[in-house]
Amino acid sequence: MSPKDPKSAKSPKSPKPPREKVDLDAYAAQMRAAPGVRPDIASVDPAGTPGFDGDKKAARKELRKLRRDLFSFQTRLWAERKRSMLIVLQAMDAGGKDGTIRKVFGAFDPQGTEVTGFGVPTEADLAHDFLWRIHQRTPRDGRIGIFNRSHYEDVLVVRVADLAPESVWRPRYQAIAEWERGLVEEGTTVLKFMLHISREEQQRRFQKRIDRPSKRWKFSEGDLAVRQHWGDYMDAYAEAIERTSTDGAPWYVIPADHKWYRDLAVARIVAGAAEQMHPRYPKRPELAGFVIPD
Ligand code: ADP
Repeated sequence: MSPKDPKSAKSPKSPKPPREKVDLDAYAAQMRAAPGVRPDIASVDPAGTPGFDGDKKAARKELRKLRRDLFSFQTRLWAERKRSMLIVLQAMDAGGKDGTIRKVFGAFDPQGTEVTGFGVPTEADLAHDFLWRIHQRTPRDGRIGIFNRSHYEDVLVVRVADLAPESVWRPRYQAIAEWERGLVEEGTTVLKFMLHISREEQQRRFQKRIDRPSKRWKFSEGDLAVRQHWGDYMDAYAEAIERTSTDGAPWYVIPADHKWYRDLAVARIVAGAAEQMHPRYPKRPELAGFVIPD
């Protein structure tokens, strides 16, 4: 290169440091609730960022990459059409279920995804066993099902608000664990998330809903009553997680006061499970060399 070459005037570019690859399995293992152990939810800092020492910007950057991986996973899962994934989201009100669905699972093709919100059971729901309405919404082969609330309400709100006697809700832990085991055995990967916000963060989010006219519709007076039973809900979550976190269908307690950390954590865990599943495109060797006729 001659000294006049403009390129030589530039200082040599230092090579980009290779991006550190996150060990998704190790991260998920760190976050997973151990089967049969009562989680100490109070000791999980809702504003914490375990396993991540970057800031919001870095989290959003990693999320963008994970979203590409999630999209690729879903395409392969659908092409393969042999297995499915079920993602269960539970949280206190304003805990961020809707935001997680938008920001993380928005990566999926809507055609391969089914989001189901479970509200107050209908008369028909109540005339059946509690899993009846749930089972109808589990994903078919090739698809991803996302539950915005779930059968866990039947051991959470039902327990805390005393909607059924203990003799009814207590046996449900075992029923749930066995039912989920059946799903897993038939080829569904089950991942369950408790988005864990602090009472103070919930207060801030509720206040925002009231202060912003465009968010007011989200506020329900009933949510304030639920808020009064925070401790009872934490106890109910702890027992549900203890009794139903299994190797096949684990629970993850996600610190969720920082939305950017919450999204990153959920995306990492789902992407890790996706890597493990490793669906493949069908090879179709019979098509090799085939030319489309005129
Ligand atoms: P979200 O609050 O998740 O945005 P909704 O406004 O539709 O959705 O509220 C759902 C409501 O339905 C919650 O108050 C929840 O406690 C209630 N719910 C869900 N499942 C059950 C159940 N099995 N029994 C009683 N109430 C339930």
